[in-house]
Amino acid sequence: MESLKLSYLCTLIMKVTEHLKAANDTLFSFEILPPLKGKGIQTLYDGIDPLMEFNPKFVNVTYHREEFIYKERLNGLLEKIAVRKRPGTVGICAAIMNRYNVDAVPHLICGGFNQEETENALIDLQFLGIDNVLALRGDSIKSEPVFLAEPGGHKHANELIQQIAQMNQGHYLMDDYKMDPTDFCIGAAGYPEKHFEAMNLEDDLHYVKKKVEAGADYIVTQMFFDNKKYFAFVDACRSMGIEVPIIPGLKPLKSLNHISFIPKYFHIDYPVELSRALNKCKTNQDVEALGIEWGIHQSKELKAAGVPCIHYYTMSNSSSVKAIASQTF
Ligand code: FAD
Repeated sequence: MESLKLSYLCTLIMKVTEHLKAANDTLFSFEILPPLKGKGIQTLYDGIDPLMEFNPKFVNVTYHREEFIYKERLNGLLEKIAVRKRPGTVGICAAIMNRYNVDAVPHLICGGFNQEETENALIDLQFLGIDNVLALRGDSIKSEPVFLAEPGGHKHANELIQQIAQMNQGHYLMDDYKMDPTDFCIGAAGYPEKHFEAMNLEDDLHYVKKKVEAGADYIVTQMFFDNKKYFAFVDACRSMGIEVPIIPGLKPLKSLNHISFIPKYFHIDYPVELSRALNKCKTNQDVEALGIEWGIHQSKELKAAGVPCIHYYTMSNSSSVKAIASQTF
């Protein structure tokens, strides 16, 4: 399919899997969040600039569904108001590719999209020359007790991946004449400590396999703080016949609040050695220093084990990622 040629297209656009194949050492990559609605893009660049010296081949940009609150009006009726929106994933991807000459990987989620909207979003990406996508289900929004698919939307990531893979074969929803195939490299999520809704790790892995069978080309893991869990996850995947690259995801701890927030929100455990050290932290600075030390320890061990890439969740904290990367890459 012919894509709009923006200036970034003067450099070779590659798929994540091509970057992994071409590399002769562990790659560095990271993930950023679009700014809250109303905030400019400069703060985002300020977070990305210090990380460019580590030569990332691709940068991920998360996607966030709108959250709603209901405010009671004077007449007693409830008004639905959108809050904490972080729009701009696609625009940010194009801006990053243009400014830094690196590939951008937009996250695409099932939540909030019906299949036609998904198809249109993928067409926009293709026209912008963005050939990579990380396909996810997304979490439930706060006003929903469980994840609810949009009417006509996908319930699980494997269905979204299947839709993208179908488009790569030239099959669109309105499949009544020959369509131009898209050419997306598709990533999917994996959970070394299992996804919180899964009955057990084996059941969760069964669905990871379904995602790969549907067309996922590689997996990026949820954050973990115990490398043993990642290595065991990779072994379990391999023994089930999941052969695609599995990129470990790391998050540097930064504040006292993270001590309880991360296990609660991301459903992961800290290894005992780390939890004992965290118990001794009195200030945010203590946690930040420990987070960097632990991140260096994890990164060095993963790199020594020959992982294809280490993916850092910056969560608007690039200084710790820089400190870790400068000791690792
Ligand atoms: P799924 O693969 O659909 O799995 C969800 C649950 O359903 C699992 O318990 C699984 O075992 C089960 N399951 C899977 N398939 C089936 C099936 N066919 N039938 C029955 N059960 C099934 N969220 C965002 O909103 N925006 C982001 O940008 C974002 N980025 C992320 C990046 C990474 C690397 C990771 C690891 C997560 C990210 N998330 C993001 C969070 C993610 O959306 C949530 O963890 C979500 O709850 C699950 O997404 P998934 O793609 O793994 O879903």
